[in-house]
Amino acid sequence: MSIQILSPQLANQIAAGEVVERPASVVKELVENSLDAGALHIEIDIEKGGSKLIRVRDNGSGIAEHELVLALSRHATSKITELDDLEAISSLGFRGEALASISSVSRLTLTSRTEQQTAAWQASAAGRDMDVDIRPAAHPVGTSIEVVDLFFNTPARRKFLRTDKTEFGHIDELIKRLALSRYDVGWVLTHNGQRIRQLKPALTPEQRQQRVAALCSKAFAEYAAEIENSYQGIKLWGWILHPDACQPQLNCQYSYVNGRMMRDKLLNHAIRQAYGERLTDDKVPAFVLYLEIDPRQVDVNVHPAKHEVRFHQSRLIHDFVVSALADALRQIAPQEQLIVE
Ligand code: ADP
Ligand code: MG
Repeated sequence: MSIQILSPQLANQIAAGEVVERPASVVKELVENSLDAGALHIEIDIEKGGSKLIRVRDNGSGIAEHELVLALSRHATSKITELDDLEAISSLGFRGEALASISSVSRLTLTSRTEQQTAAWQASAAGRDMDVDIRPAAHPVGTSIEVVDLFFNTPARRKFLRTDKTEFGHIDELIKRLALSRYDVGWVLTHNGQRIRQLKPALTPEQRQQRVAALCSKAFAEYAAEIENSYQGIKLWGWILHPDACQPQLNCQYSYVNGRMMRDKLLNHAIRQAYGERLTDDKVPAFVLYLEIDPRQVDVNVHPAKHEVRFHQSRLIHDFVVSALADALRQIAPQEQLIVE
């Protein structure tokens, strides 16, 4: 066979293979875009576990009419312009691939209005990327993106979707993770027209505690030790539960690096080490932790889905986290009768 350049649609579909694993991955990309656009209210509507409909509505800055087509094109981003920007990234997105990828494997409609515009515009793309329809629409300042019939043109992917309940479970878990990363944002999540979560912005320490209780259980919010510690420009804050109260059913393990949710090996290792031998086999750690460091000290461009980071000073960070957590755990006395609902 002779060498040929892939069509844009096929290139996008291949890229979608890396980023769009299931409906929850679409929700993640759309919500991260809303957060990058400065939204303070985000509504997520899901139908049939996301296989029928995923709709994300925000009150962010919106996309100008003349940029709608660009927003759907591959390698088009407003977030970085040069390699240097990648060295100190502060936005959640930067690859310029999500909307192009998602629109290549679904029927996507983007409706948006900026503050400067008197009217909104809508762009639709169905399983293609260069061929976008634009028409006037009604919408307040902000953006709505509707993703209908995910994977309708990639049957192999569609076959891997689990039941609606399982797929929605992944979405709900994702929204929990995101809601714990931005207390200042209000969130609404519905499934098949039913309101599943509604979280008002949590601006005071009490409201934050209430959000943690709503998302991680009352017991966690009540018994967890509060942490706030910094060292050489590295800051760690959040909550960690005393090992005596660490029951597997709590299922509360959330960690963030510069506001980005992570399943990070280094952090997990540091957490286990801080618990030490008190974390017996029947116990599962429970924590909500935020690590904040100079963005130049982390590389987020490790994986397309950005689940991982690389720390430049990994030893230093690891040891700081261990000692900060061990300190916090020492300060709460072991409680003999912790009641965990
Ligand atoms: P990236 O987030 O990596 O830039 P995306 O494909 O996710 O790439 O989005 C492309 C561009 O579309 C973004 O850079 C942004 O300018 C614009 N965009 C996408 N979603 C929104 C939104 N909800 N509000 C405002 N702008 C958006
Ligand atoms: Mg994005």
